[in-house]
Amino acid sequence: MKHATIVKPGKRFRLGAVDPSDDAGLSDKAEARAILAADLERLRVLQHMLYADNRYALLVVLQAMDTGGKDGTIRHVMSGLNPAGCAVTSFKVPSEEERDHDYLWRIHQAVPARGMIGVFNRSHYEDVLVVRVHKMVPADVWKRRYRQINEFERMLDENGVKILKFFLHISKKEQAKRLRDRIRDKSKNWKFSEGDLRERRLWGRYQDAFQDALRRCSTPWAPWHVVPADRKWVRDALVARAMVRALERLDLRYPKPKTDLSSIVIR
Ligand code: AMP
Ligand code: MG
Repeated sequence: MKHATIVKPGKRFRLGAVDPSDDAGLSDKAEARAILAADLERLRVLQHMLYADNRYALLVVLQAMDTGGKDGTIRHVMSGLNPAGCAVTSFKVPSEEERDHDYLWRIHQAVPARGMIGVFNRSHYEDVLVVRVHKMVPADVWKRRYRQINEFERMLDENGVKILKFFLHISKKEQAKRLRDRIRDKSKNWKFSEGDLRERRLWGRYQDAFQDALRRCSTPWAPWHVVPADRKWVRDALVARAMVRALERLDLRYPKPKTDLSSIVIR
């Protein structure tokens, strides 16, 4: 299996160059699900070590166009984790209290503690995406945020929070299919929002905003992964594999006991 494309810091990157329906070299759904299952097994062990080691946290950021599969990824990939060591935070339209603070305030509060895996369903990137597309703040305000975000993420990284960012890349055609599905399937009706249709008309502007965010904020300490996401099984396998690789790079270990356990006798 190939890996998700990592946007190279400081290099030119075109979102259009990544095919949303790429199969990452996987032959079919069955193969992808088998690989995912093996990686989830590995992830469980790594999560246990992350917790025991207690030096690092892992922060997974999920961003996508509407229907891009953020919820599905959380269901399929994070369900393999121990819920005691994992927290998912969904970022919605900021509340009145949140709007009274800087845009990173609510984000920082949700950053996982040492030993934990935190998953962001949307994130501070909304503040250079929806906020930019809808001109909610002047251009000079959102333009400064790329630098601010890089510095914020660098601070987190230097304090043990390892950051993995995933852009779940779907095609406009696949979005149409998924939106129709939300109308057709009674169990999905609740997910349909007319707002999604308004956003769909702004597809091109969102793609531009995503491309800039990926270019400007893929850093050695917090790289952006572009995940072909038209096929859900490709998406899930790629996200899980990137998480396994990130945790393996940390050289996690179980702490040495503080006393000589061989001398202890339990009666
Ligand atoms: P959903 O993820 O479908 O529940 O929708 C959440 C909505 O909140 C989306 O339309 C986001 O664009 C919006 N949202 C999230 N963060 C922000 C933000 N910082 N500013 C404005 N809208 C936001
Ligand atoms: Mg929605």
